[in-house]
Amino acid sequence: MRFSFSAEEEAFRAEVVEFLADYRDLDGFFLQGHRWQAVRDFFRALGERGWLSLGWPAQEGGGKPIAFEYILWDEIAYARAARNPLASGVVAKTIARYGSDAQRAHWLPPIRSGDIHFCLAYSEPEAGSDLASLRCRAERRGDVYLVNGQKCWQSYAQDSDHLWLLCRTGALESRGRGLSLLIVDKASPGVDVRPLPTLDGDQLNEVFFDGVEVPVDRRIGPEDGAWTIMGEALADERHIQFPPKRVRRDLEEVAGWAREQGLAADPVARATFANLAVQVLEVEMHALRVLDAMQRGRSGAVEAAANKVVHTVACQRVARAALDLGGPEALVHGTRPELLWRQSLWETIGGGTSEVMRGVVARHGLGLGART
Ligand SMILES: Cc1cc2nc3c(=O)[nH]c(=O)nc-3n(C[C@H](O)[C@H](O)[C@H](O)COP(=O)(O)OP(=O)(O)OC[C@H]3O[C@@H](n4cnc5c(N)ncnc54)[C@H](O)[C@@H]3O)c2cc1C
Repeated sequence: MRFSFSAEEEAFRAEVVEFLADYRDLDGFFLQGHRWQAVRDFFRALGERGWLSLGWPAQEGGGKPIAFEYILWDEIAYARAARNPLASGVVAKTIARYGSDAQRAHWLPPIRSGDIHFCLAYSEPEAGSDLASLRCRAERRGDVYLVNGQKCWQSYAQDSDHLWLLCRTGALESRGRGLSLLIVDKASPGVDVRPLPTLDGDQLNEVFFDGVEVPVDRRIGPEDGAWTIMGEALADERHIQFPPKRVRRDLEEVAGWAREQGLAADPVARATFANLAVQVLEVEMHALRVLDAMQRGRSGAVEAAANKVVHTVACQRVARAALDLGGPEALVHGTRPELLWRQSLWETIGGGTSEVMRGVVARHGLGLGART
């Protein structure tokens, strides 16, 4: 495994860091919904530099080695500027691979420029970890699908222009073999987005579909064929889903806060932070293992599952350290440790729970139990 980046990659990192100096105050990594206008402008600035499409196929304006995407989103996470937009990742890479010529020509340019945004409408109240059991249904009626059902926990639905909808077009018993992907305009009659406040002060959403008409040419990929496509889209994004510098920045901020509290010479505090510093290195190593596997043409699925557990647990441990060391002072509303604590609690759930990730490592990494 290569632990260093090439001179060209490091030069790109320097360019990114310089660019980010103009966005020092953006602070959109957490509570992105509260800063949406500014974050949207930031994405447009990335689009102008061609940085939203780095990992797309060369003929669509990308073609850069995946290390470039990794570096970009790692530095953006360290700067706390924003989370990577779902449109230019999962959505665009799938359209580039499975869309028709007309679909690519229609959707990719405005995504590449950062002008349109998507949310992922996958989970439902009764279908999260077991996504193949989802029920939201699309019935074909001539040139349109009629969509009825409910989705739950959609990040950014309040700010998105379109929904990337995973829905059932086959029988319920067909599970993953009866699912399709549709692009739904959020402004369509019958779409109702309702807020679900989260512990960190941000917002998820539930989305209701009541007889929503979706033109058939907004289906990406074959009818009933979404499951394989979804797996590939997820695989494309594994190297940027959990940028390790986010955890490094958490540690720096909590250690800075502890210093301000007069804890710098406290032996327990020093031992705690030394321990956490080792865990941050562990997080960085796991992220590099994902990148390395993908660079070698492997799926990186097991490495990514292990990375997600190590990364998200480290986030919670760093935030927890402030509570353990600082007591009530760490719980004052508005301090960074307090926000980190409330925010880090959901990191072990969103994008797949720790239990499910451990199951992947056990089955596919260690050969324990039945493979799924
Ligand atoms: C902050 C946040 C953002 C999200 N954003 C989106 C989004 O943008 N779009 C979207 O569609 N969804 C989103 N989700 C939903 C997310 O994908 C689901 O919450 C997650 O997959 C878990 O599903 P669930 O909530 O239904 O829990 P369940 O699947 O019901 O799990 C309940 C418990 O059972 C455990 N469990 C379930 N299956 C297994 C198993 N096989 N082995 C061991 N334990 C198991 C779980 O670990 C968990 O502890 C988001 C969730 C959060 C918290």
